[in-house]
Amino acid sequence: MYKKSIDLIAVYPGSFDPPTRGHIDIINRASKIFPRVVVAVTCNYNKKHMFSLEERVSMMKEALFKVNNVKVESFSGLLVNYLDNIKSFCIIRGLRALSDFEYEFQLALMNRKLKEDVETVFLMPDREHTFLSSSMVREIAFLGGNFKNFVPKNIYKKIIKKISKENKSV
Ligand code: ADP
Repeated sequence: MYKKSIDLIAVYPGSFDPPTRGHIDIINRASKIFPRVVVAVTCNYNKKHMFSLEERVSMMKEALFKVNNVKVESFSGLLVNYLDNIKSFCIIRGLRALSDFEYEFQLALMNRKLKEDVETVFLMPDREHTFLSSSMVREIAFLGGNFKNFVPKNIYKKIIKKISKENKSV
């Protein structure tokens, strides 16, 4: 059983491929509630990633350099094992719409099954980010649409660079 702690670390896990303004919104909210937040970047084995793990970590670090109680790390394997390693029991996840609920509910209960005292806290982004997802950003970018307002500036540049590289290699 974990004790209440003023040093509580909340972990926001995700693939963040790429990080969007929706993710940053959730991280900013979490950083106001929890003493310490770790953004834990990982690989989602059900998804083919656009950016490598290292690239996603570095993009997230750049986007968050102003938020001082937030750290960005990467992990592989089971989230509950990672939580154990960094002595955390608290997971943050974002909820956009009802469509997120079923998957997130299942994930939260599975994590609790894997490790009894793990808690998942859901945060909702600003309304203007509720339609935003990494996959939508990737799709718009590949199709040449304007996605400038959906991602932080540094990430916008990285996506444009990645796409022009891929187009050249085709
Ligand atoms: P995963 O591969 O774990 O689904 P994502 O990077 O897609 O990783 O998402 C990480 C978390 O952020 C999830 O809880 C997801 O619901 C949430 N999320 C994604 N986009 C947004 C958004 N626009 N607003 C709020 N939460 C979001």
